[in-house]
Amino acid sequence: MPLEIVTVPCLTDNYAFLAHDPETGATAVVDAPEAGPILSALEERGWRADLVILTHHHGDHVQGLADIMDAHHAKVAGPADDVHRLPALDMQLAEGDEIEIGAERGRVIEVPGHTTGHIAVHFPESGIAFTADSLMALGCGRVFEGTMDQMWASLSKLAALPPETMICSGHEYTLANGKFALSVEPGNADLISRMEETEKARADGRPTVPSRLGLELATNPFLRAASPDIRETIGMPDASDADVFAELRRRKDEF
Ligand code: ZN
Ligand code: FE
Repeated sequence: MPLEIVTVPCLTDNYAFLAHDPETGATAVVDAPEAGPILSALEERGWRADLVILTHHHGDHVQGLADIMDAHHAKVAGPADDVHRLPALDMQLAEGDEIEIGAERGRVIEVPGHTTGHIAVHFPESGIAFTADSLMALGCGRVFEGTMDQMWASLSKLAALPPETMICSGHEYTLANGKFALSVEPGNADLISRMEETEKARADGRPTVPSRLGLELATNPFLRAASPDIRETIGMPDASDADVFAELRRRKDEF
């Protein structure tokens, strides 16, 4: 039975997720931006959190942890590389490590770039990946700590997951991301219709996260460095994919 996923809006534009295994009742919380909405989402369903997975050290992903732990006796897992700047971890995670939510096993993917220690976790059976501020809906996290090459390599690993994978990312930035995407690939029909959907969803107050990887591959400029249209728009017809990505990321920072 696949994991049941709940998207929990937190703060102004953050997302946390609940991942619940209906067979065993095990429940994980992915990221802890704000305790209130996460505790209510658990309570409404009568779920006990037994695991919290932290994707990276930024305050808007960890600051709700203490209050969640006051109410739930959960183990805390997070990136081994960031153990010195994260709350106390029961499990330190690195590339290839496995982590279980009830009967389902996830695999850890190191995705440095936004921060040097950022991790993603892929649950192949349920077809879900938690990517926080690495791969995002129509975008990717800003490259604060790692290099552009690292971020490109991280996104390339995620791009290689099965296209039906649901990408559970950390923020509702899709509308702003899409405006940038259209500026570099204005003729992309999939992108145009995705933006129409996005505008409708946001007008109705619906989250646009999670999103399917296949749709990201077709519309997210940060996965589309090979696109001839994008290369033409930015005047880099013969550059490497990594260099096109870096230029796109720089342009987005100033968009
Ligand atoms: Zn972040
Ligand atoms: Fe964030």
